[in-house]
Amino acid sequence: MAIEQVPCLSCGSLIQPKNNVRKRKYCSMKCNGVALRKNKTIEQKKQEKKIYDMQYRSEKRDLLKEKKRNYYQKTRHYWLKKLAEKRNTPGYKERHREYLSTYWTAERLALKKDYDRKFRAKKRFGPLWEAHYLTVLLNEEVQKRISKYEIYKQTGRLNKALQRSRNGTVKRGYT
Ligand SMILES: [Zn+2]
Repeated sequence: MAIEQVPCLSCGSLIQPKNNVRKRKYCSMKCNGVALRKNKTIEQKKQEKKIYDMQYRSEKRDLLKEKKRNYYQKTRHYWLKKLAEKRNTPGYKERHREYLSTYWTAERLALKKDYDRKFRAKKRFGPLWEAHYLTVLLNEEVQKRISKYEIYKQTGRLNKALQRSRNGTVKRGYT
């Protein structure tokens, strides 16, 4: 007795029965695969993977750190040796100096200065670092706008001895 032929759910062609026992839904593995697809765009898949990775990293943070530490400890000597070899090649120092001369642009130097200031303030004053940082900035601004001569003039610290002798508060020399 011949089995009734059913159409493939994916492509619609009639399925050729291979045996009389199993009823199949798809004509081939290919059609099965096509039916299993969820029809997501590449962007969607990327977004999902991104979220999954973020969750994984936050959940397994300690494990990942441990793994990295172990790997570093295992391969440390190799890398240090390799870097030392690189450092000892002829002309390395000159090339490095050349690189640094182009690396430190005015922009980068300004950034580094600011970073160092914050770093020092945090180290010295802890949670109150911002007060110190702002004071330094304020002082800098004041120094830019007014010279030491003007400050001393305003506060009466200029030529103190001369002024006293002129005012007659202090007598100098023979009388
Ligand atoms: Zn098919």
